[in-house]
Amino acid sequence: MKNICKNIKEILFDDKNKTFFLFCHEAPDGDAIGAMTSFKTILETYFKKYGRSFNFAFNKVECENISLMKKYFFLPYVKEYVENKTFFEKIEGDVGIFFESSNFKRAGFLDENIKLKKIINIDHHNINDFYGDINWVDSSMSSTCEMIYWFLKTLDLPLNKDIATSIYTGILTDTGRFQYSNMNSKIYLILKDLVDEGLDINYIYKQIFALKTKKHIFFEKELLNNLEFFKLNNVNFSYSYIDENFIDKNDITFNDIYGGADYLRDIEDVDISVFVKPKGKNCYKFSMRSNGKYDLTKISKLFDGGGHTFAAGFSVEAKDIFSAKDIFVNIIREKFNLSE
Ligand code: AMP
Ligand code: MN
Repeated sequence: MKNICKNIKEILFDDKNKTFFLFCHEAPDGDAIGAMTSFKTILETYFKKYGRSFNFAFNKVECENISLMKKYFFLPYVKEYVENKTFFEKIEGDVGIFFESSNFKRAGFLDENIKLKKIINIDHHNINDFYGDINWVDSSMSSTCEMIYWFLKTLDLPLNKDIATSIYTGILTDTGRFQYSNMNSKIYLILKDLVDEGLDINYIYKQIFALKTKKHIFFEKELLNNLEFFKLNNVNFSYSYIDENFIDKNDITFNDIYGGADYLRDIEDVDISVFVKPKGKNCYKFSMRSNGKYDLTKISKLFDGGGHTFAAGFSVEAKDIFSAKDIFVNIIREKFNLSE
């Protein structure tokens, strides 16, 4: 870790590098946005004086997705980027820093639309294409934000309230409010450091979790309506979905739909939960959660997806959501022995 952090520092200090772009994965979560805002704050605070510019490489989708991005407006810079619609279709610059993106496509850009001299790839997922000049990929980390904390410590740079708020947000969301198996005692020490910067814990909680839309509650109702349990190769699955019809009829946005797979995981005897929603025309997004017995990256790899051991996802092309389920069930049944 020390060497990688030093290599990153060298790139930041290299006078040839003037324009920096920060990327994260599409439909960003608290860890992705927290990584962007903490790193930009670090760069603006400690490296701006060397005549560098640091931009978020948001694309149009993110900047127009107000209902998703709104809950991150309390973090530095996000509100101004989204409200001013500062987004990019093509990126040309010196250095790209990618946070938890397994590849360019996951960051919302086509390969040919990105022209960068150097790429720094920072991720804590198990599956990553190692596309950077520097690849700091460490799946033992709870979150990308935890990695950024260690980056600061390694470079001996002080925290401030904005950096701490951003890092805290990523750890909070990626550890399921400090409850998942990626929690450990070291993280409690990090949290102490962060909270000592004067964080408003309750305020951050409220921004991210407290306010549910009524449509989200409709979604949860439908989630339970469509819930079923089945056994495949001796593994107990819980399974549910939201289809196009329900979304149209109730005028539900994709941002009202979240937490489905988490909800279905916390049911007695369930080994793996699966939640499916439409992603585009004839395309369905699968979210999976494991209760600790099975490694889900073994499944997501089969479908060209990604993620972590106990939380992973992928997309399936199918004529409708029922065919998508058949494809999933058949592949699990025929090609895959989960106990291997
Ligand atoms: P989700 O089910 O969307 O909450 O995602 C669970 C985990 O899997 C997250 O770490 C995602 O970044 C990852 N993931 C989900 N879908 C994909 C995909 N199509 N490709 C790569 N990683 C994914
Ligand atoms: Mn993450």
